[in-house]
Amino acid sequence: MDARPEHPVQAASIAAWDKETDVAVLGFGIAGACAALEAARAGAAVTIFEAAGGSGGASALSGGEIYVGGSGGTDIQNQNGFTDTTEDFATYLAMAGGQDPDMAKIALYASEAVNHFNWLRAQGVPYKGSFLPGKIIEPEGDDTLIWSGSEEAWPFVTKAKPAPRGHTVQSVGWGGGRKIIDILEARAREAGVQVETSARGRALVVENGAVAGVIIRQNGKELAVHARRGVLLATGGFCMNTEMIRQHAPEALRCSSPLGTIDDGSGILMGQAVGGRAIHMNEFFVTCPWYPPESLVKGIFINQAGQRFINEDCYHGRVMRTALEQQGDRVFLLCDNAIFARPLELAGAELAAVGESWGEVESELGFCSGTLSRAIAQYNEHAARGEDPVWHKAAKWLQPLAEPPFAALAFIPSQSYFSYFTLGGLETLPTGEVLALSGEPIAGLYAAGRAACGLPRWGKGYSSGLSLADSSFFGRLAGKAAAKAPKMA
Ligand SMILES: Cc1cc2nc3c(=O)[nH]c(=O)nc-3n(C[C@H](O)[C@H](O)[C@H](O)COP(=O)(O)OP(=O)(O)OC[C@H]3O[C@@H](n4cnc5c(N)ncnc54)[C@H](O)[C@@H]3O)c2cc1C
Repeated sequence: MDARPEHPVQAASIAAWDKETDVAVLGFGIAGACAALEAARAGAAVTIFEAAGGSGGASALSGGEIYVGGSGGTDIQNQNGFTDTTEDFATYLAMAGGQDPDMAKIALYASEAVNHFNWLRAQGVPYKGSFLPGKIIEPEGDDTLIWSGSEEAWPFVTKAKPAPRGHTVQSVGWGGGRKIIDILEARAREAGVQVETSARGRALVVENGAVAGVIIRQNGKELAVHARRGVLLATGGFCMNTEMIRQHAPEALRCSSPLGTIDDGSGILMGQAVGGRAIHMNEFFVTCPWYPPESLVKGIFINQAGQRFINEDCYHGRVMRTALEQQGDRVFLLCDNAIFARPLELAGAELAAVGESWGEVESELGFCSGTLSRAIAQYNEHAARGEDPVWHKAAKWLQPLAEPPFAALAFIPSQSYFSYFTLGGLETLPTGEVLALSGEPIAGLYAAGRAACGLPRWGKGYSSGLSLADSSFFGRLAGKAAAKAPKMA
């Protein structure tokens, strides 16, 4: 047999099962780890099949930052002087969901996030408890709480009282995700979860319209695995599958750097092949770390028509997702001497022009005479009064760009570090049950993490921490639901 995700296998064609389990979890990132752990604790026999040589996936590469708030705030928010109502948290999440937020998942997560955070700690995930102010991407040290979204920026701030909600695992420098995964892996193994590595899910097995198992490829052989209570897809997104990106999210093809490990969309394809509905497949998170230093937030971004297109005090990802929509192959960040500083080397920004006047910068960039000078004169006039009537940048970031020399930094999606991962996936209920085109759940099939479409589903609404939050919380719910599903014969 040469099983492929697009072609489900009929159970009747399988002479004998090679392996039996209650819940087969595909993928050992954070969604799979949380799902397996909860399913095992609920009494199910659970096996994780992981295509790579060990646990981790994109989760282990991540910053280990999780987006939490509501219920008055976590103890860490409170200790640092912040409160956070469930209503404000839910309002922010709804705005962050774009045109089609999943209100059922939002209501549940907004009211349960603090409990979920405490559950992670109870598994052993450590948090120092300190707050790091300012506009940063990830703490350089081992601090916990940061502003990790667009909470203080227009339009979000007009509807939801802002609070910092990015909670980062205690780990020095960027990339704390590995620590979270190691801890969750230890808990899962203690709970009796069986782990099969170098074991790739190839195709779902169906019987009478229900998912009854999965074909696994391991050591060059294909094994038929009977999953008596269900198969749980926790295989991540599809940013590494160029064909899927071309088909669903072609704008991402302009970006230099897909972010992930396998991320080939195989789980989504398997789910679709048994009738699952995939939604928001065009949406992706993208960023280029254009700040820190935060003084650059006082600059202005313009496109190649010389037009400003966003309030620069938004989350870096919202700015860069909007930048990608602009005409031309690059955007420019305009700075004066008072705010200029080099972005991180990683960003790959180019110093495109320098001049003693904005007129010089404009001619070096090849703009028609007056285009930039007029735009800057208008911005400066309002900034001097602490106003931004066009894009509503907050007053603390407004300062006339008037001190020579002046500079334009170019951010070029194909050359600078424009990293992205996908947000679209299988449509699920909060329980992780995968929905068919009819809107009915497909018996025996669950999905969580980036194989599903969860709280993060709009590139311009993404906030750091939302993906791990969604994957871990709804992974847990999916694991519990699968463990309780009736056993199939
Ligand atoms: C550098 C970086 C930094 C990030 N920082 C953050 C952050 O701080 N906060 C945040 O919220 N998000 C962050 N993200 C995004 C976040 O890490 C991911 O969106 C999230 O971890 C997805 O979790 P997952 O469990 O769905 O997928 P993954 O963690 O990718 O796990 C999927 C697993 O499935 C396996 N797999 C794939 N196909 C198969 C198959 N067919 N059969 C068996 N196994 C399979 C893969 O090998 C992988 O181990 C970051 C991402 C990166 C890359």
